Amino acid sequence: MSGKVALVTGSSRGIGRAIALRLAADGCQVVVNYRAGADAAAEVVGSIEAAGGMAIAVQADVTDAAAVESLIGQTLERFGRLDVLVNNAGVTRDGLLMRMKDEDWDMVIATNLRSVFLASRAVLRPMMRQRGGRIVSITSISGLSGNAGQCNYAAAKAGIVGFTRSLAKEAGARGITVNAVAPGYVPTDLTSDLPQTLLDEAVKATPLGRLGTAEDIAAAVSFLASDDAAFITGQVLRVDGGMVF
Ligand code: NDP
Repeated sequence: MSGKVALVTGSSRGIGRAIALRLAADGCQVVVNYRAGADAAAEVVGSIEAAGGMAIAVQADVTDAAAVESLIGQTLERFGRLDVLVNNAGVTRDGLLMRMKDEDWDMVIATNLRSVFLASRAVLRPMMRQRGGRIVSITSISGLSGNAGQCNYAAAKAGIVGFTRSLAKEAGARGITVNAVAPGYVPTDLTSDLPQTLLDEAVKATPLGRLGTAEDIAAAVSFLASDDAAFITGQVLRVDGGMVF
């Protein structure tokens, strides 16, 4: 993927960090986006540079339309092109629906779904000019199967699935593929509050007998972003060890 430019939202930590490192190892120049973690984002850029790659960190809150426009603008200004968008930034605000606060619903929908709309819309023009591109969004098995305590998160993640299938139909004629990756449980800051019993249950329900790693997810994104995936669009690739959920 040498010469290609990839933007990974929310890549200062966790799965996004692993995706940024993997795409850089694949040869991409990488834009590491973050909201608050400037030091963590600088560390990711440093790791990419230490391995001989090229990256920059750009702060932008992906729920904010103007900030997203500026993020894409800075990417184009710095690298002159944009080949791969990975919509990875995400948050949880779990709780049973009966007690869910309006702000917990709104924040999760804004961060996990509105961001995908804003960033994908903003990259379409440059990708059309280049006659091709790759959009890969991180959904979740929660969005496919539902999960008690995650009505907001599952709704946002299921929204990504419908969005992906629709945009794939709109953008295919322009050589732009649009796919999603649905991880099972992956130990990161996002899952650090989950009770150990729930993670043990998850492992028990997983034929491959372990939790996922951020690198497992990054490998799937790397494939969907590559030339080898040129004829794959509108798909949701589960990366969950075969979990029966
Ligand atoms: P983490 O909490 O470890 O990392 C979240 C990342 O998103 C951070 O880099 C954070 O930046 C960034 N971020 C959050 N809000 C914003 C915002 N408004 N604007 C820009 N960046 C933002 O999460 P994970 O790595 O676990 O999750 C990554 C993705 O994978 C999410 O979409 C999540 O829903 C999905 N996923 C995760 C699973 C898991 O088990 N971990 C399972 C299934 C899906 P900062 O540090 O600056 O706050």
